[in-house]
Amino acid sequence: MTAFKALGLEEHLLNAIADMGFETPSEVQEKAIPILLDRETDMVSLAQTGTGKTAAFGFPMLQKIDVKSRTTQGLILSPTRELCLQITNEMIAYGKYMPGLNVTAIYGGASITDQARQIKKGAQIIVATPGRMKDMIGRGMIDISKIEYCVLDEADEMLNMGFYEDITEILSHSPKDKSTWLFSATMPKEVSTIAKKFMHTPVEITVGTKNVGSDQVSHEYYLVNARDRYNALKRLADANPNIFSVIFCRTKRDTQKVAEKLIEDGYNAAALHGDLSQSQRDTVMKSFRARQIQMLVATDVAARGIDVDDITHVIHYQLPDETEVYNHRSGRTGRAGKTGISMVIVSKSELRKIHTIERMIQKKFVSKEIPSGMEICEVQMFHLANNIKDTEINPEINPYLPNINEVLEDFSKEELIKKVFSVEFSRFLNYYKNSKDLNAAADKSSADSSKDTTRYFINIGGKDDFDWMSLKDFLRDLLQLGKDDVYKVDVKDSFSFFNTDPDKQELVLNVFKDFKLDGRHINVEISKDSGRSGRDRGKKRSSRSGSDRGGRSDRKGNFKKRGSSDKPAFKGKSRRGANRPDSKGTGGRRRRKS
Ligand code: ADP
Ligand code: MG
Repeated sequence: MTAFKALGLEEHLLNAIADMGFETPSEVQEKAIPILLDRETDMVSLAQTGTGKTAAFGFPMLQKIDVKSRTTQGLILSPTRELCLQITNEMIAYGKYMPGLNVTAIYGGASITDQARQIKKGAQIIVATPGRMKDMIGRGMIDISKIEYCVLDEADEMLNMGFYEDITEILSHSPKDKSTWLFSATMPKEVSTIAKKFMHTPVEITVGTKNVGSDQVSHEYYLVNARDRYNALKRLADANPNIFSVIFCRTKRDTQKVAEKLIEDGYNAAALHGDLSQSQRDTVMKSFRARQIQMLVATDVAARGIDVDDITHVIHYQLPDETEVYNHRSGRTGRAGKTGISMVIVSKSELRKIHTIERMIQKKFVSKEIPSGMEICEVQMFHLANNIKDTEINPEINPYLPNINEVLEDFSKEELIKKVFSVEFSRFLNYYKNSKDLNAAADKSSADSSKDTTRYFINIGGKDDFDWMSLKDFLRDLLQLGKDDVYKVDVKDSFSFFNTDPDKQELVLNVFKDFKLDGRHINVEISKDSGRSGRDRGKKRSSRSGSDRGGRSDRKGNFKKRGSSDKPAFKGKSRRGANRPDSKGTGGRRRRKS
């Protein structure tokens, strides 16, 4: 407590801090609070999720505003409704000994008139998501012309979510001489641009990149062929019957797709992403907290607000575009002193990213094998045996026992055990009986294919007003790919070239199969030139044409076929049962009542 006092905080805040049970300031609090209390300054602060940023800007803001005035003096912008509400609640808790304090949350998906009414009562501090905030300013419902402090929280995420213009618009209604405090986990170009645009010689603070609790997390990767990703995910889940996990995908589309497949295959799974309505997201989070969902498939943005303890596994179905994001993700597990596992499903072409992440987190990954079908069966049988052992006998079955006993009276204990396990496991065993090894060989070809790349020709170029940057953006948007997934973009006058990793080839060719831009047919073909100089070119071409989804044939409509081969081989034989070998009760997937 004395440590907080030494930062210069007033008595009433120290009391609130004591009530919250905070004992010592976190690093970002220690660095930011004295400066923000001491002078009117802009600040850029780089700190990971979970480092205590809310208090780092919250305490100074509360101490500096005039609670006797009803004027709005502080504005906090944050990317999602979840974070907005979280910050609002924290601010109210910090300000509990400030009579007259009114902190108002402004966010989409709730009644705008209710929010306007709250504002009218006089909110000294507004915590808002950019979209709704801009809306309400536009309608004259909010006046921020007198604010003195503006916080841009999770600035990188706000920009990732496309709020740049909303933020610009909002800030244009605020006074020039306010202090702006920007907080961000990462510092991509867009964030430094916004810092330059809206801030004057900001004080810069960086705190250690380590996430709270990150020592509790072990990191594993599983090398598979890209087409086996989904089956690998299923095996990881099956091999961990008590899994309670967040599974990260890169795009909303993949998130939705993976969740749908898991549900179809009988898992307690759900998707969490920005295209869901607020009430849908609330429902999902409620079921997840209640453990009715064991596998929450989420985008990075949607998962930001997740504050659930006891998550056993974070699974990276795909690696994030920015390596820093890896830390946010894996920080969802290993909380509150528990241990957790961060598992990456990785294809050969992404292997180099693992090494980049190792450098960043300064920890080594363990290379693990996707368990074989038989190993999984063993785990699941053992799990069932333990479940049986630990099950309390339900007296309600007593009346039925005489009849049941009669039916089973001829069997010995050994025979009964065999029969019980056969009932439970025949489907499971059949499912996994002839299952193949999903592990991709990390032999020399991995070194090879980490350099492997596909180059495309596209018949648009400078004449169509593209330069390399705008063409890259156009392709990324259209293909829904990440920042580094489209590269070596060369724009000529009437055509261009670009590269992707080979595992994106099918996607690219399919998207452009019948694609028109302004009524003109756009043609994309795999280029003979790999975009690399050097002698390995010829080899690459031939190895690619021998691969299972070689170039041109895909363009003639093989997409559907391959899509279905992603699913388990037995698909269609006896859907529900076979798909979900343990759906009838190993307990692994069953809803745990809590
Ligand atoms: P960030 O915004 O950096 O992700 P938060 O401000 O949400 O982090 O804080 C994460 C958690 O840590 C919250 O539950 C918060 O109440 C708690 N916390 C913040 N500061 C301290 C502190 N000094 N001591 C203990 N817990 C803290
Ligand atoms: Mg925060």
